[in-house]
Amino acid sequence: MPKNSANVQVLHDLPINLKVIEAAEATSAPFQTKSGFDLTSLLPHPGLPSSVQRRPASVILIASLIDNPTNLGGLSRIAESFGLEALYIDSLKAVETREFKNTAVTSYKHLDIKELKVHAVPGCLLRFKEEGWEVVGVEQTDRSGILGEDAQGSQEGVVAGDYECAGTLPRKCVLVLGSEKGGITSEILAVVDRCVEIRTVGVTRSLNVQTAGGIALYEWWREWGGRL
Ligand code: SAH
Repeated sequence: MPKNSANVQVLHDLPINLKVIEAAEATSAPFQTKSGFDLTSLLPHPGLPSSVQRRPASVILIASLIDNPTNLGGLSRIAESFGLEALYIDSLKAVETREFKNTAVTSYKHLDIKELKVHAVPGCLLRFKEEGWEVVGVEQTDRSGILGEDAQGSQEGVVAGDYECAGTLPRKCVLVLGSEKGGITSEILAVVDRCVEIRTVGVTRSLNVQTAGGIALYEWWREWGGRL
């Protein structure tokens, strides 16, 4: 029997990061670490998806305006990673394409992907609103709040019902993304409750839509992950 088989058994049911710490404590062999490296920093940050394990998150992503299957596959991967309730796309045929699968990997097998045609988006958003969802366009407009900032431009005090929803995200959140070429259409902008914009400083006019979706979803978890 190997010398530290007892340790191995004790460690068996622990999450992987705890195993690392327990293993370090259980053996006299020094861990190979950089100077000053704190092992507890290996633990997941409280409030982020990896630690909360609470799915589905109360977020729905509307990606019907997006054509490019590579982008849709990336959004599927992001949506599944962040535990979304559902992803809406214009045509489920996109899921069958090689480009989609290349970026989505297996995410689409674990995610509720629904078909929502572009022309039906405004009506669908109105129904979500009736059901108590707040609909937020992720878009650069002259009225967008800055993502993560409240009406006063502060990142503090984002307590539900206690802020003037400028760039912070609601708990029950429908996020709408725009098309690669034209962004969110005026018909859809007329229906959303408000828009949020990701602050950038470069010369490039906009972010890739997958990137924008990922940043917005990370922000939702930053705001709500610790309070689910
Ligand atoms: N070419 C379009 C923008 C396309 S970018 C235009 O210039 O109008 C595709 C989508 O990504 C946008 O519709 C929006 O949903 C999202 N996006 C890109 N950059 C963004 C930013 N800085 N803030 C918020 N959303 C952004």
